[in-house]
Amino acid sequence: MANSAIVIGGGIAGSSSAYALAKRGIKVTLIERNAEIASAASGNPLAMLYPRLSGDDLSSQFALDSYLYSLAFYQSLNLPASDFSMCGMLQLGFNARELSRIKKVATRNYPTSVLQYVSHNEASTIAGISIDHDALYFPTAAWIQPKNLCHYLTQHPNITIINTQQVNQLIKQAQGFEVYSHHHLLATADVLIIANANDAQQLLPDLPLQTKAVRGQVSVLDSTINSRKVNTIICSDGYLSPSAYTAQSHCLGASFSDTQTTSTEPLDLTLTEADHTSNLNKLNNISPALYQDLKQNLTGGRVSYRCSTSDYWPLVGELIDGANLTKNPVRPSASSESLPWLSGLYINAAHGSKGFTSAPLCAELLASMICHQPLPVSNELACQLNPNRFLLKALGLKKLAKTIASQHKNSG
Ligand SMILES: Cc1cc2nc3c(=O)[nH]c(=O)nc-3n(C[C@H](O)[C@H](O)[C@H](O)COP(=O)(O)OP(=O)(O)OC[C@H]3O[C@@H](n4cnc5c(N)ncnc54)[C@H](O)[C@@H]3O)c2cc1C
Repeated sequence: MANSAIVIGGGIAGSSSAYALAKRGIKVTLIERNAEIASAASGNPLAMLYPRLSGDDLSSQFALDSYLYSLAFYQSLNLPASDFSMCGMLQLGFNARELSRIKKVATRNYPTSVLQYVSHNEASTIAGISIDHDALYFPTAAWIQPKNLCHYLTQHPNITIINTQQVNQLIKQAQGFEVYSHHHLLATADVLIIANANDAQQLLPDLPLQTKAVRGQVSVLDSTINSRKVNTIICSDGYLSPSAYTAQSHCLGASFSDTQTTSTEPLDLTLTEADHTSNLNKLNNISPALYQDLKQNLTGGRVSYRCSTSDYWPLVGELIDGANLTKNPVRPSASSESLPWLSGLYINAAHGSKGFTSAPLCAELLASMICHQPLPVSNELACQLNPNRFLLKALGLKKLAKTIASQHKNSG
């Protein structure tokens, strides 16, 4: 049983992982390179919590499981109304493809407490403004204040934060892990969780993670008398928050541009007009009237970088020694136990555009693995999230990549 853990990275992945372990009585040291936690992707003004479903595929199952788990988790924290609001969300069938998708989802008979198909008239009543499109209505979808959430989670008495230290070396000893910044020992612990998003690959040079940084910009708009009537999140190919979070402004997001960065390159955090325009075009898809009302009301925005894998699934689980396995390959029929596990070394990263819904469930999954408790997700999902999948596939071990989480759990 682990008594101590180090978590590298103070975004939602690191904060929720630290919290899940702290709740189980494990002493956690969370190390963040910036002066404050939640200052990278997890530092946006607001995060929306809603699932994007397509059918009965595994990715819809993960989206729904994560969404329901995160809502219950955030509700259990008793956050103030200024930090968390289950205001509901309308996902508009604003073009032929989206309309066909939401109609298909609606045929799957989800409970009405999860989602309902609504006509454009019903959508208008729910939204508080006129809506031209039929929609999926998620009555408990929510927004959350990311920075305050991460601060709240890391205030647990079992968590100690070390700020302004960039980890650049990990050493596995017989009894646990040592973590260094420029040869200066920062912490030691039984278990180590890597939760530093796009910089994880730097710490794990021998394991292909296939992550890339995806630039995104949110725009902040002053509300108007008309726009203050909006009382749910409304989504087209972007989202508009109600103005309730400050009573004055809306958060409009988010732009996407793929950025293949090497992790040593500094990321460009400059706001661009092009990205504001791209966000405003998404608002036009939500409501041309709101677009006219708000298009001159830009007051600012924020740029940050998502971390996404090439298959868009997060990386969650215990890690394998990539250099060792590459040098000493195993047969495709090998068992999970014969792999060179780096016992006690875990990752929770690559949450793409949905970290505030996916990270808490993934944190619970890791904590359950670490404490040998029943997993909170199906074996199929745990295998899909397996962070060693790209290496195993590259070495021709596809079957092992698909079954590894369950085998490893059973052996654990
Ligand atoms: C524009 C935009 C809008 C978004 N909107 C939403 C939304 O509405 N809803 C939603 O759910 N998600 C949204 N997301 C996605 C969400 O923000 C991310 O999925 C989430 O923040 C990722 O959290 P993280 O902890 O993995 O990474 P991060 O928040 O990036 O945290 C990683 C941390 O690790 C630290 N770090 C890095 N290297 C080291 C090191 N070597 N040593 C110590 N510390 C280190 C960094 O400083 C950073 O604080 C959005 C993203 C963007 C870019």
